[in-house]
Amino acid sequence: MATLGGPGREAGAALLAWYDRHRRRLPWRAAPGERADPYRVWLSEIMLQQTTVAAVKSYYAVFLTRWPTVADLAAAEDGAVMAAWAGLGYYARARNLLACARVVAGGAFPATRESLRALPGVGDYTSAAIAAIAFGEPVPVVDGNVERVVSRLTRLDRPPKTAKRAVEDAVAAMLPADRPGDFAQAMMDLGATICTPRSPACALCPLRPVCAAAAHGDMQDYPVKAPKRARSVWHGVAFVPVRPDGTVLLRRRPARGLLGGMAEVFGSAWGATPQEPLAHAPFAADWTPAGSIAHGFTHAELTVDVYRAQAEADAPAPAGAWWALPADAGLPTVMKKIVTRALAMHDPA
Ligand code: SF4
Repeated sequence: MATLGGPGREAGAALLAWYDRHRRRLPWRAAPGERADPYRVWLSEIMLQQTTVAAVKSYYAVFLTRWPTVADLAAAEDGAVMAAWAGLGYYARARNLLACARVVAGGAFPATRESLRALPGVGDYTSAAIAAIAFGEPVPVVDGNVERVVSRLTRLDRPPKTAKRAVEDAVAAMLPADRPGDFAQAMMDLGATICTPRSPACALCPLRPVCAAAAHGDMQDYPVKAPKRARSVWHGVAFVPVRPDGTVLLRRRPARGLLGGMAEVFGSAWGATPQEPLAHAPFAADWTPAGSIAHGFTHAELTVDVYRAQAEADAPAPAGAWWALPADAGLPTVMKKIVTRALAMHDPA
């Protein structure tokens, strides 16, 4: 594959000098001159997959307080970890987090990208990030921020996801062998704070002298976008029975698949066809429509029609359990919306 050309080691050094002055202070980062803790780097990188720094910070703090070491996390109850993850989304990450902790807990984190890549939930990006940041391996670390920066630096003429090798090579050409972890974080910080998607602050950028897009004044044209795939439209129905003590009936989703292992309300599967409501009720009752909720997943827009009913104090719990409210500590966001919708209708106040 053709290389992109682009900036070299001097640009890398300029970026590091900028990083030394302007680095973001993030809770999982080591202080300057200190070695980052692999557990903290790994935990934060898994949380940051598909999620913003702002959203991750409070979850990271909770996890680190409850499970200060990978051995503590490995010994945790599955349900406790899933509940602590609730609201952060992409729940396969939490299951992989536990699986990975249990692999690592017997020994230590492996120290190379190659061996890290074999761990559950640790892909190309995460293995490179941990190897560079926690172990000082001089490997290119490419996330969405870095793809954007490189696309602009080189005026990459195709979507960066289709030019992975070329983007990695461009990053490797700048990489200072003695500070690979700082360099990786400097590229991420530059993308997050200076070379932002909508309005790059080129006047403040340490790479401005070597940036092809800035020289042409067409930064907004990069990265080249991949053609958009249409999002699916899903429908579903959900049932929230409420007992006089305020508890609601919930069950647990299967371990695999969307929201796997998380608590959910009873209802239909989600699909393209609107559902026949009452066929999916957990038991016969006076089900009252409580309106609907909308929720966006990465690849689908979901609408759920919500029904609620007053249940008897001794109502059964078919394949589920009655949960005290607020139950939101263990509910993913879409389920929280459904329960909130039902209880808003239920509460006579
Ligand atoms: S000069 Fe502008 S477009 Fe180029 S890398 Fe810096 S912020 Fe991004």
